[in-house]
Amino acid sequence: MSNAGLIPNPKTKFYRIKCPACGNEQNVFSAASSKVRCVACNSELAQTGASKIILKTKILKVLE
Ligand SMILES: [Zn+2]
Repeated sequence: MSNAGLIPNPKTKFYRIKCPACGNEQNVFSAASSKVRCVACNSELAQTGASKIILKTKILKVLE
């Protein structure tokens, strides 16, 4: 199979998420190596998992 011109199965993505506490939207890296906190109110938005983060809020959009 030829995948010329395509990036096959990127392992990492960015997610657009919204802070449930203050409504601030920000992008998080799917493979962030530390906890993700809201840049506005410092609420914890995601924890680190084995290979990707575990979000505590809904994903608004996946940015690839
Ligand atoms: Zn917030």
